[in-house]
Amino acid sequence: MSDLRFMQMALQMAERNLGQVWPNPAVGAIIVKDGAVVGQGATARGGRPHAETEALKQAGEKARDATMYVTLEPCNHQGGTPPCTGAIIDAGIVRCVVACGDSNPKVNGAGVAALKQLNCRLSGLEERSPQRVVCDRSGRITAEKNLWVLAEKSPEDVLKTLAEKGVTRVLVEAGKTLSTAFFHSGCVDKIYWFRAPKLIGEDGLSGVGSGFAAELASASHFKRERLLQLGDDTLEVLCSAAS
Ligand SMILES: [Zn+2]
Repeated sequence: MSDLRFMQMALQMAERNLGQVWPNPAVGAIIVKDGAVVGQGATARGGRPHAETEALKQAGEKARDATMYVTLEPCNHQGGTPPCTGAIIDAGIVRCVVACGDSNPKVNGAGVAALKQLNCRLSGLEERSPQRVVCDRSGRITAEKNLWVLAEKSPEDVLKTLAEKGVTRVLVEAGKTLSTAFFHSGCVDKIYWFRAPKLIGEDGLSGVGSGFAAELASASHFKRERLLQLGDDTLEVLCSAAS
């Protein structure tokens, strides 16, 4: 199997705990020796342990002289856990394929630099990893590595600009104004609606803007696809009939 296939497996691992690993990013790691997967790991719920150390634990001694595929640059700093680069080196991994550099200023190239001393390499797979985008029309946020800042005025223009950059799937995580604008633009395929069993009443801020809830409840072309209980909260997934 090619590097790309193994990285796809690592990306699938990364999705396993997606949404449950805050404050850390959802990362996946696969360890391959002689063409066989000997270890796999995903960032655990709550953000720790990291995917790399999980995969190393599973591989044990088989990690020696093996290749690691990891979806994000391994950390090289002492955080809540010891740096993963140290664990990778100690385990005897001889090659490390990384899909995407980490823009976190604590990492930002340092992880890859540490691994390069071991003949590890950064492959050109950046385009397969999520790209962070911020919509900011007032120029308060400056663009940086792995962060695009868009000043477009409408959801249609935002999506057009992203499409020109080759982005085909977008997850909008927004407050009332932007999420409502996207909803009314007709460009939304799916809505992930989280609800907590709390009544805040008139002191609360509305999560959605005018017309959103009424339209959703009445002649909406959105149909419920799934209803999940997540602890005390519920997640309702609504799917557009047009998509
Ligand atoms: Zn780490």
